[in-house]
Amino acid sequence: MSTRLRTEPSPLPSVDRLLREPALESLLGAYGRVRLTAAIRTHLAALRDAGIAAAATDAARVESIAAAVGARLVEDARPSLRPVANLTGTVLHTNLGRALLPQAAIDAIARVALQPCNLEFDVAAGKRGERDAHVETRLCDLAGAEAALVVNNNAAAVLLVLNSLARNREVIVSRGELVEIGGHFRIPDIMARAGARLREVGTTNRTHLADYADALTPKSAIVMKVHASNYEVRGFASTVSERELAALARERGVPLVTDLGSGTLVDLRQWGLPHEPTVRETIEAGADLVMFSGDKLLGGPQCGIVAGRAALVDKLRRNPLKRALRVDKIVLAALEQVLMLYGDLERLPAELPTLRLLTRTRDEIEPVARDLARGFAAALDVGYEVDVVDCASQIGSGALPVDTLPSVGVRIASSAARPGRDGAVQRLQRALRELPMPVIGRLVDHALILDCRCLLDAAPLIAQLGALRPPGA
Ligand SMILES: *Cc1c(COP(=O)(O)O)cnc(C)c1O
Repeated sequence: MSTRLRTEPSPLPSVDRLLREPALESLLGAYGRVRLTAAIRTHLAALRDAGIAAAATDAARVESIAAAVGARLVEDARPSLRPVANLTGTVLHTNLGRALLPQAAIDAIARVALQPCNLEFDVAAGKRGERDAHVETRLCDLAGAEAALVVNNNAAAVLLVLNSLARNREVIVSRGELVEIGGHFRIPDIMARAGARLREVGTTNRTHLADYADALTPKSAIVMKVHASNYEVRGFASTVSERELAALARERGVPLVTDLGSGTLVDLRQWGLPHEPTVRETIEAGADLVMFSGDKLLGGPQCGIVAGRAALVDKLRRNPLKRALRVDKIVLAALEQVLMLYGDLERLPAELPTLRLLTRTRDEIEPVARDLARGFAAALDVGYEVDVVDCASQIGSGALPVDTLPSVGVRIASSAARPGRDGAVQRLQRALRELPMPVIGRLVDHALILDCRCLLDAAPLIAQLGALRPPGA
């Protein structure tokens, strides 16, 4: 501090003077006086803090200040939440926002966001209505259910079911199904938070019908099945099917609820994809309630859906927690449009982005990968080798954890010898994340793999490769 006191009065230009500079005046139109003044003040303060007060230094020159303030304003105007290129090969990537919405859903969102809407208003009757009513009939038709409701996500659906049906009572779950989904969602923890008591049965690899039968007592509130989302037990393993379990639960007068996780409304095998149990199959097998996500295989907005018996769904609806977990008009508008698309299965793969990406064949993806590889080969320096390679995509979000989809990607490796190899690839990875549209791939065997399953057109991505700072430096 004492050094600063001893220096001459700051030679840095004043804010007023800077505002009159042509270079900064041009920023005035784009950002307005308030933002521009604030950015100038922040920058001048940073220069002072850095001890850059001498007029002779480059950074104190008006042009340098104008450039830095401009960059600061651009940076500040960039939203934190923004698009990235998902070249990870995982279609439903939780960290990258899961399902992409169809245009019809985006349009519906815009309509209800810009104007008042009948969210909880029964227009025909002229009185208060139910927000879930906008999607319930379609959900019931697709799921073969008597009733359905929507909450914030599937974790909320599980919480609501447990709290509504099993508070202070027992929930019977197989030890093989006490899963952690990721992001701190663990079945035993959510059970505790819901006020339900966990009654574990069976073992990690094998649970038999008799295990459930022995555990069922008057204290049992529900039997719960959890779809093993992100792993598979192989070898000496056995589980009890919904059908067997439903018969037992019904005989004992206890509801069977199933957390399907991803849950799909249609049989994916019709498009050559692996089989994932559908909501309808699960209900037909005897589950009284089924919980599943809106933004996994369903391909809609983030939400959690509970479908099943009307009497049970009613109990859920009357729980005050439902109010805390409800979705807004934006989610409902999008979900309704997505459900409408399910009315025409022939067009579904073309209309629903998630299905479109999942059903792309290796041969459809290959030309895009070749384009992208050419773009990279031209943009990168000689320190990198660029190849087109076959790779395997994943559905993601816990659906079909073991099955993969044949895909094609770009492999970029360093041509450096061993010691420098990983550093070069990591530098490239970082440079790709710093592009205007960050590119996210995955590392495999010391190389960067950019899976092109989710890339429909390489051109926009190649166009920004010019901004790639020479990463070899
Ligand atoms: C994904 C998943 C959840 C959590 O769903 P969210 O919609 O992410 O809240 C719960 N249970 C299972 C089995 C899942 O796969």
